[in-house]
Amino acid sequence: MAEDLAAFTTQVLEHWGALVEAKGNAIEALLPEAVATRLQVPEEVRFRFAAANGTGTEEATDAQLVTYGSPVLEKIVAGLAAHGSVAVVALQGLYLKQVTPGPDIEQMFPPLNARGKCVKVEPTMVPYGIFNFRYTAVSDEKTEGIVAVAVNARSLAEVAPVAHRWREAEWQERSVHEVLSTISHPLPQLYRRAKSVAQRQIRRVLQDFHQSRERRLERDRQRLEAYYLGIAQEIRGRLQKKGLGGTEAEREEGKARAAERELLLKVHELQDKYAVRVQVATISVLWVLLPVLHATMAYQRRQAVREVPVFWNPLLKEWEAVACEGCRENTFAVSLCDDKQHLSCAVCSQPCPTCGRRFCRGCQPRGCPTCRKGSG
Ligand SMILES: [Zn+2]
Ligand SMILES: [Zn+2]
Ligand SMILES: [Zn+2]
Repeated sequence: MAEDLAAFTTQVLEHWGALVEAKGNAIEALLPEAVATRLQVPEEVRFRFAAANGTGTEEATDAQLVTYGSPVLEKIVAGLAAHGSVAVVALQGLYLKQVTPGPDIEQMFPPLNARGKCVKVEPTMVPYGIFNFRYTAVSDEKTEGIVAVAVNARSLAEVAPVAHRWREAEWQERSVHEVLSTISHPLPQLYRRAKSVAQRQIRRVLQDFHQSRERRLERDRQRLEAYYLGIAQEIRGRLQKKGLGGTEAEREEGKARAAERELLLKVHELQDKYAVRVQVATISVLWVLLPVLHATMAYQRRQAVREVPVFWNPLLKEWEAVACEGCRENTFAVSLCDDKQHLSCAVCSQPCPTCGRRFCRGCQPRGCPTCRKGSG
């Protein structure tokens, strides 16, 4: 997590015109005067990201600590809100391999119910959106962090390594207009895709948080049960031993039931105390213009042909997945629907689990049409 924070801080500071150099777990920065003033740190400054753990104490003394909740990070996030949070860089000097259309590419993107042929390969520039999201999860404890999501703006595929590895290449700052003219999907669609990837990542990151919260909840619930059910049991035990009857017995039984009702109330309170509220906010977007190889796959399903762009990424040195038009997840193998030639991943190509009929999740985003009609 400290690494994410270091990458994020570096990205923002460079966007603000700082010279930044990584030094082990820390970074050294030469800040423009205005940025130093905004962050209330010297112009020549060191930032460290992990709390000193006893071994590196000597480097800890002169470095500003950046952690979640630290004043420096709060000022960086506030600065993003006030001073623009969108930047564009173009990467340069990346090697694009020589590829000609043929089976090598075709095997990467096998059609499940159609014929597929690679018809063209050419170099091009593609924008990738790197969205930084900040999440905060609050229950009886609080945790927060930043996740970075990279999405190919032409294919909508998630290309996770680009979020961090773009800085391995030389880059130059460009204007926002330059990138907006080359994006083929509407921005809201791109943003939704990034957000759904971020939500999945955040769920994964928060797994430990949830597990330890559930353990504490269970422990507290058991304590309450032991206490209140113990009282009820004791009252009823006494009642039996004394052989009481009539109004006196009723009164004692009433007390036992009151203890049980109190338990229900306390358990509700406990559930409220341990309920989780997760907030996610976008704090910045970086557009990275990347030189890639653009291959065109032509898929033929019955009489119709659909051309699908696929991309070879020089940072990964691999072909990127394409996005399923049903669930939006990454996939390499695709099937095509009959009506509109939507692309589906293997999972989305499965028949409806309830009625067994096939349908296209791209044409029917609200689910199986047969079952929907059946349920009114
Ligand atoms: Zn799918
Ligand atoms: Zn169905
Ligand atoms: Zn369809």
